[in-house]
Amino acid sequence: MNSNKIKDFLFSVGEPIYRFNQIENAIYKDFTTDFKKIKNLPISLREKLSDNFRIISFDAINILTSTKGDSHKAVLKLKDGRLIETAALSRGMLKWSICVSTQAGCPVRCAFCYSGRKGLKRNLSAEEIADQVLFWGAWLKEKSLGEISSIVYMGMGEPFLNYENTVESVKIINNKIGIGKRHISVSTCGHVPNIRQFARDLPQVNLAISLHSAIDEIRDKLVPLNVKYPLDQLSKAIRDYIDCSKRKIFIEYIMLDNVNDRSRDARKLLEWIKMTHQKKYFTVNLIPYNETGKNFKPSPMEKIEKFHKHMTLAGVETTIRKSLGSDIKGACGQLALGN
Ligand code: SF4
Repeated sequence: MNSNKIKDFLFSVGEPIYRFNQIENAIYKDFTTDFKKIKNLPISLREKLSDNFRIISFDAINILTSTKGDSHKAVLKLKDGRLIETAALSRGMLKWSICVSTQAGCPVRCAFCYSGRKGLKRNLSAEEIADQVLFWGAWLKEKSLGEISSIVYMGMGEPFLNYENTVESVKIINNKIGIGKRHISVSTCGHVPNIRQFARDLPQVNLAISLHSAIDEIRDKLVPLNVKYPLDQLSKAIRDYIDCSKRKIFIEYIMLDNVNDRSRDARKLLEWIKMTHQKKYFTVNLIPYNETGKNFKPSPMEKIEKFHKHMTLAGVETTIRKSLGSDIKGACGQLALGN
């Protein structure tokens, strides 16, 4: 929802300021998505608002639920017809983590990722990003499935290539919807200047780095932004980030068979972490790969476990991420961009 436009409109029709607070409370706290259902507004104002504005800036054209019911994925059609995705992932006990997109498509074109295949279509506005949270808040409430406990910026797009709108959307989600900064995580594949900027702008928000390899020749191919910002530059930026924010970094590492899952890869990752900062500042998340094409195979679980053991024995906190939603095309971009 574009709050500024609503505020200007209320002012132009001579409504008192408390009407704006009533509207914001209904939308951001109660997840009301229809002006006509905001009961404490006069009927005539409800009608004027619904004639002139939309609360959610897109339409959900498809919502899929995994067989286990632990993840839901929606394809959203933006005003200009572009398609994006968003997901709700169960954290147990009726709590949900919402995965949001920041761009329609993605310019980075990571080799294993669906979202990057067709390049960037456009950046999302801060409103379009935050509306994904409103959308799920309303949907979970309607289905009595529980409530939102955290937000991850890990959907379509590279958040740090749409930096200002990403930061603005975090502020909306935090200040208006009320999700704590420490329950919001933004993931970047390594945009060095904005890693430093992020430490200054939002030091309490979690930062995840989609690393996937600590060997430049491999990472250049997997994550092409590495050619511009190679691993030594990324390491220095992360050191500065930690020194400035005193926060832990989450390293995302997708496990690809015989590409980045060997003992040498684990050794290099360890060396890169040690070169960057003290081990206590890192948590490595090993992510089983959701197969999306012919180029890569998922690492067998024995290899993931061996990699996990290598890292943990060396004193780096490491987890193996539970794979959710593979039966609803769990990999980012798969639903919106088709097969
Ligand atoms: S993994 Fe992220 S940064 Fe890379 S192409 Fe996909 S959406 Fe873009």
